[in-house]
Amino acid sequence: MTGHISYPSGGQKITVKDGKIQVPDEPVLGYVEGDGIGPDITKASMRIWDAAVQKAYGGKRKIHWAELYMGEKAAGLYDGDYFPEETKEALKDLLVSIKGPLTTPVGGGFRSLNVALRQDLDLYACVRPVRHYDGVPSPLRHPEDVDVVIFRENTEDVYAGIEYQSGSDDNRKVADFLRKEMGERFFEDAGLGVKPISEFGSKRLVRKAIQYAIDNNRESVTLVHKGNIMKFTEGAFRHWGYELAREEFGDVTITEEELYSTYGGKRPEGKVVIKDRIADIIFQMMLLRPNEFDVLATMNLNGDYLSDAVAAEVGGVGIAPGANMSDNIAVFEATHGTAPKYANQDKVNPGSLLFSGVMMLHHIGWSEAADLITAAYEQVVTSKIVTYDFARQIEGAAEVRTSQFADAIIAEM
Ligand code: NAD
Repeated sequence: MTGHISYPSGGQKITVKDGKIQVPDEPVLGYVEGDGIGPDITKASMRIWDAAVQKAYGGKRKIHWAELYMGEKAAGLYDGDYFPEETKEALKDLLVSIKGPLTTPVGGGFRSLNVALRQDLDLYACVRPVRHYDGVPSPLRHPEDVDVVIFRENTEDVYAGIEYQSGSDDNRKVADFLRKEMGERFFEDAGLGVKPISEFGSKRLVRKAIQYAIDNNRESVTLVHKGNIMKFTEGAFRHWGYELAREEFGDVTITEEELYSTYGGKRPEGKVVIKDRIADIIFQMMLLRPNEFDVLATMNLNGDYLSDAVAAEVGGVGIAPGANMSDNIAVFEATHGTAPKYANQDKVNPGSLLFSGVMMLHHIGWSEAADLITAAYEQVVTSKIVTYDFARQIEGAAEVRTSQFADAIIAEM
């Protein structure tokens, strides 16, 4: 590597064999500390991840961290470049990385860095596990019933950016075509957007969701869609989802219909139930009967809304973790933004990044270390030692700084 990135000596790179990652005992993992509150939560979380690995494996395993640069720190180092080529190459080369939040630079021509990251590395699945942790404040009576993993398609849908501004020449061209050639009717000054949903994009997302369900002993995968209204996009997603399950996972999946018609409502051991729900119903169900859902596969826009709404049921985006993945590359990330007003105050909740790291440890197969963190986190939060955001929701809480919160978790492990 030339430039500003160097891999620490002593570590080895993760590789891929037969479609699965192969993780050495001392892997090099990438990290981007991020902007705003990023450095505070990264520092605190890294201490916790490293302590958990040390505790779980007694020195036999160790993460070698390679710092990669995106956002404002990158712009300072790489002459105004917020997402240097060198970082892209390292993210691909290392396969597993974690990042803090990034400011989207304001001004014409800038793509959001997160969008650029997803597009440039083709990270087509946004994976968001949402579950309740003991002690975390929740508006639900039974928050422990929430335990889902949302697989949101990341590259298509109305997010593809195919839009025509009202009054523009392009808008007039598209509107003329739709009216004259296709016989469509809509108001004169309508802004127009296109919603591409492909068989390829839908199937690779649903494939990842079903594979995850199989690997993690999950009971069902629910295809979320609004296919009753948008038949050829959202309806097609549902159709392709079922088709893929039948064609590629026929021996390990059954449909919800078969569950009742053939198996009397009792899921046979080892089979994943494939079902679907209309998008508006899923919002109600996740409030009223969340224990009926397990893995959810969604298109881009539905998944965006749904993942934040479900996260809010069990503690909010301040602790919800996430990852963006392609077939082999995974970039784990805090799901909140840079909260600039709290930057460098050692104040905010590191939970979102911390649990993204827990996801990462599971991803590389180091579940013992991951579980140590989860257990210690629950102990600390149950004893009401929390950062400001939870302190104001928990009566009698002791508010601590980000670094003190990390100290408390490490002491509990
Ligand atoms: P934000 O998530 O940064 O902050 C909104 C509010 O949420 C904060 O004021 C704070 O009250 C709370 N909050 C966020 N993280 C918290 C934490 N860890 N602990 C406690 N409270 C927390 O959203 P915003 O203000 O809309 O965006 C600020 C910047 O972040 C923008 O530049 C935006 O583009 C960027 N952003 C980045 C990402 C990302 O990198 N993934 C995501 C969203 C927004």
